[in-house]
Amino acid sequence: MKLTKKELLSIIKEEMNKILFESTSYRIERDEDLEMTSIVPSGVELSSSHYNEVAGEYDPTTTDYGLDEEVRRACEKVLSKAMELGIGKPIVILAEPDDSSHVASTIDGTEGLMPMICLNTDFLINEMNPEREAINTLLHEFGHIYFRAQGIEYREEEEDVVEEYALRAGNKSILDRYKNSILKIK
Ligand SMILES: [Zn+2]
Repeated sequence: MKLTKKELLSIIKEEMNKILFESTSYRIERDEDLEMTSIVPSGVELSSSHYNEVAGEYDPTTTDYGLDEEVRRACEKVLSKAMELGIGKPIVILAEPDDSSHVASTIDGTEGLMPMICLNTDFLINEMNPEREAINTLLHEFGHIYFRAQGIEYREEEEDVVEEYALRAGNKSILDRYKNSILKIK
């Protein structure tokens, strides 16, 4: 049987969807040499260059509190939100962000296919519900990544928008309302 182009395309599309939506598990990956822990989506292999890029510039957070597992679960729960925003499957690195007063930040230039988020789990140690806090933090970052991916430059007022998005459990219309208001000004 010879497939038509249309049939072939639909098979490819189906396979792509499988890759995008079915593998929703995250694993904890530890690089002992660099003392770096990452939370990595299944189907994604981190190369040592990935780590080296990060290791020199970011300090790893304290291990031994079981917070890697809390973050892993949080990643799995918010992955569908990342998919909805079309920002790819984020990789979370348990390290201090650029600005140490922040819980998380996205590594510049990774917005797009595979964003890399630094998350400081030291902030979570005293939280009553670290998983929920991690979910909130990740959604907040997703908001920033979404805007960068849309070519919208950062403004301070964006903080309130992404925080509201996070608090409302990832309601995309909050981001789009802001996006449209910015695009209208342009
Ligand atoms: Zn922010």
